[in-house]
Amino acid sequence: TNASITVLGLGAMGSAITARLRETGYDTTVWNRTAAKTEPHVEAGSRAAPTVAEAIKTGDFVLVVLLDHASVREQLEPVADALKEKVVINLTTTTPNESRATAAWAAEHGIAYLDGAIMAVPEMIGGPGSRLLYSGDENAYAIARTILETLGTADYEGTDAGLASLKDMALLSAMDLMFTGYVQAIAMMRTVGVSAYDTAEEVQAWLGAMLPHGRGLAEIIDGRTYETGGQSADFTRAAQASMITASREQGIRADLLEPHLKLLNELAATGRGGKDWLAIIELLTIK
Ligand code: NDP
Repeated sequence: TNASITVLGLGAMGSAITARLRETGYDTTVWNRTAAKTEPHVEAGSRAAPTVAEAIKTGDFVLVVLLDHASVREQLEPVADALKEKVVINLTTTTPNESRATAAWAAEHGIAYLDGAIMAVPEMIGGPGSRLLYSGDENAYAIARTILETLGTADYEGTDAGLASLKDMALLSAMDLMFTGYVQAIAMMRTVGVSAYDTAEEVQAWLGAMLPHGRGLAEIIDGRTYETGGQSADFTRAAQASMITASREQGIRADLLEPHLKLLNELAATGRGGKDWLAIIELLTIK
């Protein structure tokens, strides 16, 4: 653990990562735009640098944990030359194409670049549930792996630098649709005085029972014929319409439910009402 690591960005996540690296015995140098945030880290044994250029001098590895793509480029571009002998690992959340653009920029400047995505909240870093995804320069991953594994389970997704971000966004999309589902259910039940807490408990139990069916859905999609063994688009349209009507009867908007029905209606309108409802996936491809 004698590698020297520079962390750029001491927000909630950068702070958790720095603390974990320090705790594991790494030598850490930190930089943050608002310098005051470096103070607790210096007290705990990290070195603070006043500028990005100074900060990267002491690190073999540069971990970037800033707000977004724009802030990363703003901070890294002026120090491109100094990053040449370093391994840059960008853990900032970006889109796949933003990751690819930064990887292309790094390649142009001869910088070893790894893009990462953090599937954890700060409190989880270094703990058993923490998982981080990486993609890009395979050699950089091999060199950095021991360090990265101290943050959580490390998974290398492939040489396309956009892959970690893509999986991050796909998993977040699934989570987002699920949790907006909680909101819809709570809004509906609140109309008869049921607390959010109680409905959340009900939703959790119900989803827990339903989640194991997810693999079965994947088999139907992989089959590509959408011959339904279960729920046809027409059946699901009726069910979906009932949910929307029930919601409105209670005085609750159905905006969160409507996009799904719109896709099912599109299937029916193109003669596929008898197919499995999962055929909506074929409509999602932007033509
Ligand atoms: P915070 O809002 O806590 O921190 C943001 C950091 O970015 C601060 O250090 C801030 O500096 C810095 N920053 C913002 N704009 C600039 C800029 N233009 N130039 C330099 N520095 C800038 O965010 P988090 O630490 O929570 O998140 C950091 C990254 O980690 C994000 O991409 C986020 O999506 C990702 N992430 C966070 C998770 C979480 O649960 N928190 C989970 C998974 C990923 P300053 O202190 O000066 O404002």
